[in-house]
Amino acid sequence: MSHRLTCHCGAVELAVDLTDGLNTARRCNCSFCARRGAIAVSAPLNGVRIVKGSDKLTLYQWGTNTAKHYFCSVCGNYTHHQRRSNPNEFGVNAAALEGVNPADLGDVPWADGINHPADR
Ligand SMILES: [Zn+2]
Repeated sequence: MSHRLTCHCGAVELAVDLTDGLNTARRCNCSFCARRGAIAVSAPLNGVRIVKGSDKLTLYQWGTNTAKHYFCSVCGNYTHHQRRSNPNEFGVNAAALEGVNPADLGDVPWADGINHPADR
């Protein structure tokens, strides 16, 4: 089942096939994600398709420049990112998925991005 993901202003729209629905929901405490504050769910690399707004998506990279964090250049919303912990996977902004209320996700587990596995 494909999910529709939109940024706030609607400039960017993705079609997303999740790895395991919302069961993969995670927060992360690394210096970037902690500030962003988003809940991410997993999708395979071929599970994210840009429906519109590829010219509006902006890429942010930092540190080892492994992860690729994408966001809308108009409204600033985080849409998805290619993971550093598993570059064969995207993290997707759960709250930007159509019909998902992040308050319904309950107590979302934290990934320990401060002690990232790629740093050990
Ligand atoms: Zn936007």
